[in-house]
Amino acid sequence: MTDIAQSDADAITLGNLATVEFDLDLPSTGRHGSRIAWQSSDDRWLDSSGRVHRPVFGRGDRKVTLTATVTNGGDTVTRDFAVTVVQQPYTASIRSVPPVTRRCIIAADRVEPVHVRLPSWGAAITDIGAIAVPLTWPDAEAVVRPAPGRTIVTGHTGTEPPFPVTAVIDVEPEHSGSAEGPVNDAMGDNDNDNDDFPAVKPTLRNIPLAAIRFDSHSTIGRNQLLRLEYLRSVDDDRLLYAFRQAAGLDTRGARPMTGWDSPDCLLRGHTTGHVLSAYALCVQATGDDKIRRKLDYLVDALAEVQRAFARRPGCRPGFLSAYDERQFDDLERLVPYPDVWAPYYTLHKLLAGLIDAHEAGAARALPVAKGIGRWVADRLERLTPEHRQRMWGTYIAGEFGGMNEALARLATIVGERGGSGDNDDGNRHDGHYGAKRFLTAARYFDNDRLLEPLRQRVDALDGMHANQHIPQVIGHLALADAAADRQTAAIYLQAAQRFWHEVVSSHLYAVGGTGQGEMFRTPNVIAGLLADDTAETCATYNLLKLAAGLRRHGTTLSPEYGDYIELALCNHIAASIDRTAPNGGSTYFLPTRPAGRKSFDIDGNTCCHGTGLEVHFRAGDGAVLVDDRSDAVHIQLLESMNVDSPDDGIAMRIDAPDETPNVIHIHIDRLAAATLRVRVPWWALGRAFPDFDGHDDNGRLPTDTIVTVNGRQSDDVDYDASTHELVFPMKRPDGASITDIDIRFPIGLRLVRTPDDADMASIMWGPYVLAEHGDSPRLEPISRIPADTPYRLYFRIDDAE
Ligand SMILES: [Zn+2]
Repeated sequence: MTDIAQSDADAITLGNLATVEFDLDLPSTGRHGSRIAWQSSDDRWLDSSGRVHRPVFGRGDRKVTLTATVTNGGDTVTRDFAVTVVQQPYTASIRSVPPVTRRCIIAADRVEPVHVRLPSWGAAITDIGAIAVPLTWPDAEAVVRPAPGRTIVTGHTGTEPPFPVTAVIDVEPEHSGSAEGPVNDAMGDNDNDNDDFPAVKPTLRNIPLAAIRFDSHSTIGRNQLLRLEYLRSVDDDRLLYAFRQAAGLDTRGARPMTGWDSPDCLLRGHTTGHVLSAYALCVQATGDDKIRRKLDYLVDALAEVQRAFARRPGCRPGFLSAYDERQFDDLERLVPYPDVWAPYYTLHKLLAGLIDAHEAGAARALPVAKGIGRWVADRLERLTPEHRQRMWGTYIAGEFGGMNEALARLATIVGERGGSGDNDDGNRHDGHYGAKRFLTAARYFDNDRLLEPLRQRVDALDGMHANQHIPQVIGHLALADAAADRQTAAIYLQAAQRFWHEVVSSHLYAVGGTGQGEMFRTPNVIAGLLADDTAETCATYNLLKLAAGLRRHGTTLSPEYGDYIELALCNHIAASIDRTAPNGGSTYFLPTRPAGRKSFDIDGNTCCHGTGLEVHFRAGDGAVLVDDRSDAVHIQLLESMNVDSPDDGIAMRIDAPDETPNVIHIHIDRLAAATLRVRVPWWALGRAFPDFDGHDDNGRLPTDTIVTVNGRQSDDVDYDASTHELVFPMKRPDGASITDIDIRFPIGLRLVRTPDDADMASIMWGPYVLAEHGDSPRLEPISRIPADTPYRLYFRIDDAE
């Protein structure tokens, strides 16, 4: 009988308990009939019936333990659930609301009026900072005369009390020559290229992931091998269990998944998408044959599930999930969490996984992905823009991951395939028509709450969920890549750049993570947030993707992205993997308080577990880039690796041992480009990170940088201060080629201060944030350390003192 009580206790699933806002539905009977009684550790925030009483804003989130007592036939077992009750939203008073600005470029002979959609959210400046607030206008769109001039529309905030807000709409003739605010906001008028707008397409391209092999003894290489071993052991039929069951197919004796993927959890299926991506990235990063076969098996099985769904009555073709369409219907009726849990978030994992599989060479993945894309487009085009905004603004239920990114990538892929693609639907969805349709569907996921404050250039991230929004910004970047016209591309690219700037300059811990309790908090508060629930790991995974994407845009390569990627890979990501066994384990939060302890999610199947399966195989993303315009190759990641890309004319080896990250050797077997450029890390320049204030180094490297070319010390090595790169023309003045480059950067200990507490800093050595190994919760304030007195630190790297 104890077994039954235990099994009923194990089967209780309450959903995401890390950010609870709404009452919980606590079951009173178990699956096999056990009685379940509930007890809360703190009735003030969450009582034993599941009712939630949120703390007022400013008092912080509260942790409560819910204990389930499960009784069956005289046997009793208990199970604890850790719950975080989220504080109430901000109720500070508004001081001002920045205007909403829109710029419409029209043809000189236009006669029909210009339609401009007004945003349903915007930034407000309050007495304690800025936040995003709902906006209300006389009409959802402004209709403006088609003549040059300015129109002002007045609305108000949806706060209590309301505050007035204005929309300033400027209509300008084409080729007016004005360069400010390169945006065209006239609805449906964005099909023409316009010389008023800068080209925003990527200027750099990554060499393929498959061209890079990290050394097996390096931290990245070891972590890849550990993950590879785990992925080889994954039971694919188990990943397919809920899909096959929902589509009425045989589950082939597989066991159901656990945690967020368990059969009664509304997020089930998301890990299957992450594993698709992990397999696809792993195939490229390691070339492993077994993983390639597993990838094909998973793709084929999901295609079969998609076909089975299409045969079911009432199911629209293309649908694919580990449940039926009801969660999507409920979301459209604005049913809140916990009755709806982010169905588009889960669908995004599947769609992204299928696109990753396609890019890794899985031939049958693209038709399945296109089916999902068509299903989404069909579904969302029936809704008004205002209704979609309400859906995406519904916390947790409306979270959609990076649906905009996946659909924009799909648009790019089918657009490139022209009319000669696979013939699964008579080519209706290949070429220009298909690309346009998927791009339109991607833009259905525009989210005013995120996008408008970015366009107003106000940091209103406080209180917004970090990892809900970072993937949407990666989507802005994909939209900038896929957009057919410069105007649209510029809106999205500038929003993505603005977001990056806000997060990295004001919301970043020393290890490269962001957020506390999953949320962005007040800008420039870091020391005040140090706790156990900081730096959610999936948020850093997505910041890495965003940095790699942004790096490829812009007229010159900006050094901040390579600096961030090194920081996050060497610190947060390297610390996030459970190294004790090939168990797939990743951290959820990374504790930043003194004496904090890491824990790893092994079978909870959380968001961070899913991204943790992928992230190590992405490490080579943009490690080496090619600039075709200037015929240059950029080495951006200084790690020990072989680089072999025959199509790019590159064969070389880089040695940069983890223990001596400042000592780099590059051996070149082949480099077809005219110039090799090597990143100089921020710590070698003695700069602060992040550093946005110009990249003016007076063109000089630190004098103790030593560069040797083909065994001869070079005294006048070329350094590009705008990109932080050493520049090597491949042909030497004597006509010989470069075969070997040795670089030794200066390295030392340095303090990285927090913006909000002069006494709190991290200690770094080169790229590494040092951690004290101990249980003391006490920190030594910097100001108590006597000035000009050497302060002795002992530290150990891999047992070397
Ligand atoms: Zn996460």
